[in-house]
Amino acid sequence: MTAYDTNNIFAKILRGEIPAHRVYEDDDAVAFMDVMPQANGHTLVIPKTPSRNILDAAPQTLSRLLPVVQKVAAAAKEAFEADGVTVMQFNEPAAGQTVYHLHFHVIPRVEGQPLKP
Ligand code: 5GP
Repeated sequence: MTAYDTNNIFAKILRGEIPAHRVYEDDDAVAFMDVMPQANGHTLVIPKTPSRNILDAAPQTLSRLLPVVQKVAAAAKEAFEADGVTVMQFNEPAAGQTVYHLHFHVIPRVEGQPLKP
């Protein structure tokens, strides 16, 4: 497993070094809007602890993060008047991961509207 890179873009967002539109924050996690949304309301949920992805995350990180993902999914569904919510998560380049700080995508979905590529 490749080591965690403290200069990844989400680490910089966590440290406040680059801006992000934060929609939720608690002791364990931050949620902010994706800069290239695949649908209206596309939100990213990340832990404050430094995990590269789900493969090196401590069980406690995951157990604290999932309730936040659930909360953000429910809030985004309501806020964007969606019919459903896609929650997805990628690990390592072969699986489509491009930013190497653990994150969950939360994407409100409207019936009949495909995700933007
Ligand atoms: P991945 O492919 O790693 O699962 O997803 C990374 C996500 O981060 C992409 O959806 C991309 O649009 C988003 N992203 C990349 N750079 C930034 C940034 O600087 N700010 C925000 N808010 N999102 C970013």
